Amino acid sequence: MPAPNPTASATPAPDEHWVAGVANEILRRNDERIVIHTGKTPSGPIHIGAEREQFICSAVQRELRRRGYDSTFNFIIDSFDPLKSIPAGVQVPKGFEDHIGSPLSDVPDPFGCHESYAVHFAQEFVDCQGRLGLSPNVIYSHKLYETDAMKDAIRTVLRKIDELREIRGKYIRVQEEDGSEGGTGSGSGSGSGSWSGSMGWNPVMVVCERCGKIACRRKDVEPNRITSWDLARDEATFACTSCGCEGKGKIRDLRLKLSWRVDWAAKWAVFRVTCEPAGKDHCVRDGAYDMGLEVCDRIFGYRGPIRVPYEWLTLGEHAMKTHKGITFTPREWLKIAPPESMRYLILSADLMRHIAFLPERVPDIVDGFDRLERAYFGSEEPPGGASRAFVNRLYEICSVGEPFEELPVRLPYRFAVYMVQLESLLGRDKVLSKSIGYALKLYDREALTDREHRDLEERLSMAKNWVLTYAPQNLKFQIAETPYRPSSEAEKSFVRSIIDMLGRDLKEEDLQNEIFSAARSLGLGVGEAFSVIYRILLGSERGPRLAPLLIALDRDWTIRRLNSVLQPPDA
Ligand SMILES: [Zn+2]
Ligand SMILES: [Zn+2]
Repeated sequence: MPAPNPTASATPAPDEHWVAGVANEILRRNDERIVIHTGKTPSGPIHIGAEREQFICSAVQRELRRRGYDSTFNFIIDSFDPLKSIPAGVQVPKGFEDHIGSPLSDVPDPFGCHESYAVHFAQEFVDCQGRLGLSPNVIYSHKLYETDAMKDAIRTVLRKIDELREIRGKYIRVQEEDGSEGGTGSGSGSGSGSWSGSMGWNPVMVVCERCGKIACRRKDVEPNRITSWDLARDEATFACTSCGCEGKGKIRDLRLKLSWRVDWAAKWAVFRVTCEPAGKDHCVRDGAYDMGLEVCDRIFGYRGPIRVPYEWLTLGEHAMKTHKGITFTPREWLKIAPPESMRYLILSADLMRHIAFLPERVPDIVDGFDRLERAYFGSEEPPGGASRAFVNRLYEICSVGEPFEELPVRLPYRFAVYMVQLESLLGRDKVLSKSIGYALKLYDREALTDREHRDLEERLSMAKNWVLTYAPQNLKFQIAETPYRPSSEAEKSFVRSIIDMLGRDLKEEDLQNEIFSAARSLGLGVGEAFSVIYRILLGSERGPRLAPLLIALDRDWTIRRLNSVLQPPDA
């Protein structure tokens, strides 16, 4: 079953938002510069699960700025990782599997629009980030590994290989690193003089100069590692696990990469990272984060960042898995819902709370953000008894764009959902003018600003896309061609009372109440009474909430239609 609505205030909000706690912890370190990191491997379409980490970083950065502290926010694209499989749902040319084992930055873009597979999927994700209110520095790891700093990190690792093996032995009992720890690279190497490394594991992967692979496709994807090295001459050798060729070159010139646990620690040290959030699986005791911190400290001499563990964001009850094609991308979100509401979905949840996102729930999520906004501007009580401080922090980290000085007018998403389904009946202009009228009345305002107007039009087009793809049946409707004719006197009286109500231009809430009491006073069951109207208007037994539907419809048209079914058939 779908998890409960992640945005509902089922549990009371704490007095302080978690972002304040993370900022406190960061400031206690007294780092000279505050550096916030996040990373992602562009192995296929990057889904919104990855936004949780991005938004945590963005929220922490905003909170620090509010307190007067600058910080750097880096987003590392792990483009130097090997292609391990072709994700389900990604259309690739024939023979594309041959690229498995090559660095993602060397694999061609299957769509032909970017310089590589890595850049295609990374860019698609990065392009959305600005609209979502964040602008990290984007760093591609295949470029990063060309820098002196990373070459030095590799040399340091090799110089301290015994200590690294000892650390690793404490954490890794099974062969699990980089998909497999098979390629230990023993067998070659002279083992004499200053050459070393022929025995045992090392974390330095190499791109074969002949076949271009950094890993070989066996059972899983096995890394291609160097087999021996001579630091005095800055040289290393390798025997390619894919094509079998033997190579030798300068560390300076070879295309080398550290396997991921060591790579993580090296980047922390190179960038002096203050804080990097990580999924709960990496943060378990003796997990990858613990090992990374020890490697960072003992091998690179840097104490490492603050970890901020977080729970998953899943698509309903399914974990989003790029390789299985279970994804929902930020780009898809921005077609159906405002950016603020995605931030709200993710940032309103406690860090260790599982978020089960269902696209059907978008109207609830947008409503949740709108309520938060009204509470922030004091026009409504904070939801769920949240403290003023909590509401302020949450709103500040959710909003996107220039801050508003006063409560902006927002078209309720649910109303937009009604309106867009009436476009064929009312026409585009009428849909727009009715939506504006409704929103102004709701917020008790005379006119919209340009920004509010743009926002309202955007919500209409998002709602339209949502109805097309994700709306559940009970929110979809169309106008009936041949309306139902009420049979009993009670039904007819009910229709007459609706016509009367429509003539009085009632507010949504009053209209809904009057409809209920009219049904009751005529001795009709509420369901029965409502279905009379639905059958007249929509030709179905059920429909969306009646009052907003009646408001959304063109009043004259509705009155005409209701009158027509009260006349004798041939009148
Ligand atoms: Zn492309
Ligand atoms: Zn090769």
